[in-house]
Formats: sequence, C-alpha cells, structure tokens
Amino acid sequence: MPQDNNTLRIILPGRLIDGVGEKAQEGMAIAVQGSAIKWVGPASEAESLESKGAQREILNFPSGTLLAGLFDIHTHTNMPGDGRTGEQVNLDDSDEVRLLRSARNTAMAVASGVTTMCDCGSWNRNGFALKEGLAEGVVEGPRVLVSGPPLTVTGGHLWYMGGEADGVDAVRKQVRNLVKQGADFIKVAASGGSTSTSDPYRAAYAVAELTALTEEAHNRNRSVLAHCRCTDAINAALDAGVDAILHCAFYDNDGSYRFDQKTADRLAASEVWLNPTMGLGNANRVRLANLKSERKLTPDEEERLERSTVSGENSLAQFSALVKAGVKLVGGSDCGWSYYPFGDFQGEIMSLHAAGLSPIQAIYAGTRSPAAALGILESIGTVEAGKEADLLVVNGDPSLDLECLRDVAAVFKGGARVPTAKERASLG
Ligand SMILES: [Zn+2]
Repeated sequence: MPQDNNTLRIILPGRLIDGVGEKAQEGMAIAVQGSAIKWVGPASEAESLESKGAQREILNFPSGTLLAGLFDIHTHTNMPGDGRTGEQVNLDDSDEVRLLRSARNTAMAVASGVTTMCDCGSWNRNGFALKEGLAEGVVEGPRVLVSGPPLTVTGGHLWYMGGEADGVDAVRKQVRNLVKQGADFIKVAASGGSTSTSDPYRAAYAVAELTALTEEAHNRNRSVLAHCRCTDAINAALDAGVDAILHCAFYDNDGSYRFDQKTADRLAASEVWLNPTMGLGNANRVRLANLKSERKLTPDEEERLERSTVSGENSLAQFSALVKAGVKLVGGSDCGWSYYPFGDFQGEIMSLHAAGLSPIQAIYAGTRSPAAALGILESIGTVEAGKEADLLVVNGDPSLDLECLRDVAAVFKGGARVPTAKERASLG
C-alpha cells in the first residue's frame, strides 16, 4: 500500500531503539508522512503535532519496540538456501528460474523485517533485472543494492556468475562495466571459496589488481566488499583499502586454521567492516542436529557436522577476540547460500551478540552499520527525522532479548506498511 502525503501517521511504540542512543527509550513517538520520517519526539508532544490539513492516523504498539528496518549486507537472491552449491545451481537452473527465485526471496526478506539488503553476487544481468522489477513495483521486497557478478579471477570463486577479470586493466574495465549496468557496490572474490576450481586458502588476486579495482570503485563512489576465506586474502584486501571483508576467516595456505595476531592487530587498527557470517554455520548445524534427532546421519553428514562444529568454534573464538580488540562488525547472513534460506537475518544478528556485541550493538550491526559501510547512512539505517521511513516493530524488548527480533509486529518500507511473514501465513 503506497503511503500518501495526505496522511500523518503517528506511531506510538512501547519502546524506541533509534539507532543513535545507547539504549531503548520509553515514551517516544514518531510521525511518518509520505515516505519519510517527519518527526521523532516524546509521545506527549505527538498530540499537538501540526498536521497541516493531513489526515491523522495513530498506530499503537504498547508492548512493541520500534527500530530501523533491518539491513542485511550479504545475501544471494538467486540462490535457494536448500543446500545446493553455486555450481549445482549453475548447471540445474536457467537465469529465468534464478530471477524468479530472487523475486520470491526478496518477498520473504521484507516480510521478515529486512527493509534493505545487498545482493552480493547473482548471475549475469539478474541482479540488475531484479532492481528494475522492484523499482517498477512488479516485485515485492526490500531496497536491494546489487553488485552484479562478483569480480573473480579465471576459474575463481563464483566464476560461473559471469564476472571473470584478470589483470589491472581488466578489473578496472569490469568495475566500469558493472557501474554502467547499475551496480551499487563492487563485490570481489579476493580468495577462492566453495567453487571447485578455486582455492579458498589462497589469495586470488594480486594486491595491484585489488588496489586498482578498489580505486576505480571509490572513484565512482562505490564501496568494495571482499570475500576472504584466508589470512593472505584478508591482508591483500587491507592493503588495497576495501570497505568490508566478508567471512574474514583466518586460514593458512595449507587449509589449517590459525589465529593470526598480526592480522588481528591490522584489522583492529583499520576502519574496515567485518562480516563474520557465523549465522550461516549455525543454520547448517541446527539443520544437521535436527536431522540427527530424527534419523541416523550418513557418514558424509556426520563428517560435515563435525567439520562445521570445529570451524564454528574457531570462528566464534576468533571474532570474540577481534571484538575485544576493537574491530567493527557488520551483519550479513549470506542467505541463499548453503542451508540458509531467506527470512532469518535475525540468526546472524544473534551470532554477533554471541561474539561479544551487546544486544544494542548487535542491532546496530544489522541496521546502521551496513548503511555506513555502503555510504548511505544519511538516508536510512536509523530512526531520525528526515530519513526514509524504513521501520520495524517487534513484540517485546530486543535490547534485553534479541530473540524478540523474530517476533515481527509490523514492517514499513518507505512509509508503506508491508505484510509480515505472520500476516502472509494467516492469509493461507
Ligand atoms: Zn556470499
């Protein structure tokens, strides 16, 4: 339902987490007109707000908490989140089917409270087409920022999406080409990953290539998000001055995990945002544990559970130490990938709390920090007058218990109310 300018909508929540203060505030109200937040202030003053002929509408959520809509910095809308690998989806599906899946995934995301997200890699023109569909209103979903196909070396991670580029000149040209098509940010596979022709434990690009593409992106006011599955790639990404490091896993070239103090110190001293993607591993382990309670796991599943448990422990210990050292974490689920379907970015936010962020800090990592990392904090990410009215109301107080984030009472995108997952389900 588009929000018209003739209505002044006053929202009275039990608590407000505005994204600026250190804690939830009681007795606050906000006013929304058109697509923007018009006013934020004490509920006692809402009554006397000048509506200048506009119709007034009051929305009461006495047991609810109002906060900025969630912002997931790391998703893959083309992917099903059903355990199929990228390579399988490349072989099994056409671009048309993948694009239809994106439409379904974006609808699920916004119904769960995500009002902005980054698509960090989709096939060919799919990401750009999705954006066009959203802008036309033929697809329902959050604001979606897209990278298009990630830059990757020949045969590198995600090569099948169509973004292979080697050498300084080619990566510069590819960045220009993506920006021409409508890329909002640049994603680069700075190490290999699950793609069988790539090596997750080696830096994929030379520092000169990473530096050139970062310079090119920054010159066009685009942030660079670098996928890094090993310590060498993290250091190369730091040398190049990227804006965010995805996964940020401390693996040596031989595939062994080792906490690297020197790299940790560099990360803490830098301004770079780190996206741990710990929720992805958690989702995987929960699925296998549930399966195990129903039936005997196959030897392959047992092995995967064991491997995932070890890497999850390493990851939690690593990010707990990094948080103590003072790094900046940002929330990104990587949903669509592995067994992480769309609709529970909350799981990733909770994993950041497990690594040592307070509940409020974890909420900020899933609202304002992604906006800061993408350079759009002036228009979204907090509940402040003048910003887009991208809002989430949840039942209970998530500053005391983050689980409340999953109990969604209302979602607003650009001032317009969007049906929640629960409301959709009740329609059958
Ligand atoms: Zn990813």
